[in-house]
Amino acid sequence: MTSCIPYGRQSISEEDIEAVCAVLRSDFLTCGPKVEEFEARIMELTGARHAIAVNSATSALHLAMLAASIGRGDRVITSPNTFLASANCAAYVGATPDFADIDPVSYNLDPAALQQGWKPDVKAVVAVDYAGQPCDMPAIAAVARERGAVVIEDASHAVGGGFIHEGETWKIGNHPWADMTVFSFHPVKTMTTGEGGVLMTNNDAFAAKARQLRSHGIVREPSHFLGLVDANPQPSTLNPQLSERGPWYHEMQDLGYNYRITDIQCALGLSQLKRLPQFLTRRREIVRQYNEAFSGLSWLRTPGLKEVQNRDLISWHLYTVQIDFKALGKTRTEVMAELKQQQVGTQVLYIPAHLQPWYRKSFGYAPGKCPAAEAYYSQALSLPLYPAMNQIELELVTKAVYNVLS
Ligand SMILES: *Cc1c(COP(=O)(O)O)cnc(C)c1O
Repeated sequence: MTSCIPYGRQSISEEDIEAVCAVLRSDFLTCGPKVEEFEARIMELTGARHAIAVNSATSALHLAMLAASIGRGDRVITSPNTFLASANCAAYVGATPDFADIDPVSYNLDPAALQQGWKPDVKAVVAVDYAGQPCDMPAIAAVARERGAVVIEDASHAVGGGFIHEGETWKIGNHPWADMTVFSFHPVKTMTTGEGGVLMTNNDAFAAKARQLRSHGIVREPSHFLGLVDANPQPSTLNPQLSERGPWYHEMQDLGYNYRITDIQCALGLSQLKRLPQFLTRRREIVRQYNEAFSGLSWLRTPGLKEVQNRDLISWHLYTVQIDFKALGKTRTEVMAELKQQQVGTQVLYIPAHLQPWYRKSFGYAPGKCPAAEAYYSQALSLPLYPAMNQIELELVTKAVYNVLS
């Protein structure tokens, strides 16, 4: 057993290591067959028509903004209860990141608050599935689309998850209420590629744009734009030298990036995907046992569920409880230190994004903007949750929580 049980940790098997080593012995470390194979498996898993694998979820969110032509003069609303990337992606393209408050039960973007805080320049909504619990996507999409905005689901926490709407089951990555969806494969998330992410969409135009911008905006096919599609092309007025077409031919059609993921990472991802069902089962089981164990603690509230959130479909990334530190008579720092002494690592996720210094300085956001997210934050504590956590460790955590909180 480790000296301290962390709040989250990757699970790497000998098969994972073998899969990575096999790529290291092969011809392609990047731009090879494992990338396409990984994308194909993600499409199988979710049913999404397109999957564009990239070097991080942050890159995927940036590409989603660019694909939807979000830019200067536009506003993007997201949840304050998220990792900063969900909002930063709007700033990358010159748009204004903004925040609407969370629902106090699910800790996800509240559709009513989204509607209330709507402004005419909002062009996109980034809905974050906090802890893996799906947002109320149908309600969020209804608000956003009625007002002409695209819906991007930041499902970095919700790989392999799903939800129920009006009796029907939907998979995250392929449902009618998100135009684009993002997963993260950072080691702390549900499954990992070391660093990595994927953008999924059923929209052909968004997919084509994101794919192109992933690799410097370069296309291989000659375009009409340069007048080079004829069998006997005339010299382009823009660039006569480009009229000679050979195997080396490529055009830069847009200013893109190097957001490519490697074959090494995708081999790890493919191997991890095989174990994803086990990961999800174990995570659900740990959450079930935690909920049961903590039901008798008066200062602690376990995660609540909304109508769309079905226990059997949630892909749990985090187990975050609410603790009434005032009633308990201990500060959060004291509770974390006492738990640490009993070998239990914890984390606080998240400081409301709108209260970060850069957001305050750049956009004038201040405390009181999102009261539910701020209240949630003051009581939030994430306990250890990862698939390799065994029964002994689980009992150690529940005992430690009881010792410290009662
Ligand atoms: C982790 C995370 C990201 C960023 O993921 P990276 O792959 O590390 O770039 C974005 N959004 C949320 C909600 C996350 O938790």
